[in-house]
Amino acid sequence: MNKKNITILGSTGSIGTQSLSIIRNNKDINVSALTCGRNIELLEKQAREFKPKLVVVSDYKSALSIKQSLKDTEVKVNYGMEGLIEAATLEETQLVLTAIVGMVGILPTISAINAGKNIALANKETLVCAGEIIMNLARKKGVSILPVDSEHSAVFQSLQGNEGNRLKKIILTASGGPFFGKTKEELHSVTLDEALNHPNWSMGKKITIDSATMINKGLEVIEACHLFNVSPSKIEVLIHRESILHSAVEYEDGAVMGQLGVPDMRVPIAYAMFYPERRVIGDNFLSLSDITSLTFKQPDLDTFVGLKLCIEAIERGGNVPAIVNAANEIAVERFLNNQIGFLDIPEFIQSRMDSIAYKENPEIEDILDIYEMVK
Ligand code: NAD
Ligand code: MG
Repeated sequence: MNKKNITILGSTGSIGTQSLSIIRNNKDINVSALTCGRNIELLEKQAREFKPKLVVVSDYKSALSIKQSLKDTEVKVNYGMEGLIEAATLEETQLVLTAIVGMVGILPTISAINAGKNIALANKETLVCAGEIIMNLARKKGVSILPVDSEHSAVFQSLQGNEGNRLKKIILTASGGPFFGKTKEELHSVTLDEALNHPNWSMGKKITIDSATMINKGLEVIEACHLFNVSPSKIEVLIHRESILHSAVEYEDGAVMGQLGVPDMRVPIAYAMFYPERRVIGDNFLSLSDITSLTFKQPDLDTFVGLKLCIEAIERGGNVPAIVNAANEIAVERFLNNQIGFLDIPEFIQSRMDSIAYKENPEIEDILDIYEMVK
């Protein structure tokens, strides 16, 4: 059997563990490297089951510890950015799944593309910050960037066979998150636990908060502009509470093509992993006759200001999306640590958009520097 070798950056997270559950049932894919932050207990279990050549953790202490626990195996251990880059560029790896969270994914993704690896991209922050650089590099190197984000996978699936053929717009659907329908006054007093309680998806903490602020949808607008090479004016965001239509495209002849299904991230993950082949990954199928209604509404941009700021960021271009993303990462972390309130998140982003100097064509170094400037 001709096996495909995959590196998973962020294998202990929500996307990472779901990816491994797919690999467990598909024997023609082999894991060459696994990486995580500090969850070394789970990483050790994964290493014993999937037998990668390399595991990578974020710091030296965790590296020493997992090295000790895996000393009876052949698995090599590395840590930090150097380790992530080693995992992303391993010779045998053909596909790198970026399931890591945040800007820390930028350099490993670029290194992987430079090494000619295809990318299954979950780590949207990377494209939001450095979309132009990454997409240009991918074109130059002839590598594919396959979307894992469910909306972008739905768009990608709806574009099959029609690329460049009179696309009128992309319709990105949004669940609206736990605070859909609330007024700005009501958002003042929402708690961390309420924000972490997403109605339709179970995900990592950062993206769950991003969904509550609707900044996730804003980041996804930016992600879609880069992935599908369209201007923000061609993207319409619609609130769709049922999370059944995962997104759609409209062509100039009025045909709307979308992808529907039960909310299950394993579907887009497997589509990216095995593209263009489809694999059966579960038995929870959509029954259209059980659905009484599918609803669509325009988002409330005055209440969910973060979404509006993201759209403004991609319209302004240059380093503004990276500023918004970095400010959001920092604000979300502070919110998760109970240091700031929910509405302080968009306020913090706005303040950094106003105070950091505009740069039209930022280099990767400029983009990476933004994180420290935003603090
Ligand atoms: P998560 O928090 O569950 O997992 C993140 C993974 O990255 C973990 O393995 C963690 O150990 C690792 N990690 C975090 N910080 C790190 C660091 N500094 N250095 C090294 N490793 C680090 O996150 P998730 O929900 O799986 O999301 C991962 C990415 O996928 C995010 O960019 C998110 O926006 C995107 N995404 C997630 C979903 C979802 O359903 N969870 C859907 C669409 C897109
Ligand atoms: Mg999404």
